[in-house]
Amino acid sequence: MNDIASENKIVLTSLQDLKENSLPLRYYPDPILNEMCEDVEEINDEIRTLVKRMYLTMIKSNGIGIAAPQVGRLLNIFITDTDFGRYGIKKSNPLIFINPTIINTSEETALREEGCLSFPGVYSNVRRNTEIQIQALNYEGNHFTLDFFDFEAACHLHEYSHLQGKTIREYLGVPERSRVLNNIKKIQRENKRNNK
Ligand SMILES: [Zn+2]
Repeated sequence: MNDIASENKIVLTSLQDLKENSLPLRYYPDPILNEMCEDVEEINDEIRTLVKRMYLTMIKSNGIGIAAPQVGRLLNIFITDTDFGRYGIKKSNPLIFINPTIINTSEETALREEGCLSFPGVYSNVRRNTEIQIQALNYEGNHFTLDFFDFEAACHLHEYSHLQGKTIREYLGVPERSRVLNNIKKIQRENKRNNK
């Protein structure tokens, strides 16, 4: 685990970085969130820059995961950082998954509450497998395989679903969906004000 983490070298250099290099988030009901993603053909500087900007966007929005469609790119890439969620920015420990595949899942499932950066301010119960094994390429283009359990399994399955164009939308009732739309309007108004 440590080897992979140290190969996944993205560091937050400054707060200025966070402000200037984060990307605008795509919110529900943006149709890009329902599209299938394609594999990354070559992990080059353009891809590494995108990964870094996805990471900054996730941190800025206080998320523990982000997938490429959420910043408008239909590529099989997602990042998770459950240590950031638990312990804050100083313990941030992002894992980068490029062209991931779920190679094993448990039969056992559990219901857990999930949020999503593209659905600000609402949570929904989602049933997911409690154990999974993922294979992917890291930031340096090397293959790795990792196992995740319980909450971490759910978090990784959530991000993986984004790459198949699946979001938590189907688990939300009508009141939650309209609450999301109101929250997004609020965020967009604030962004406009901050950019003036
Ligand atoms: Zn999400």
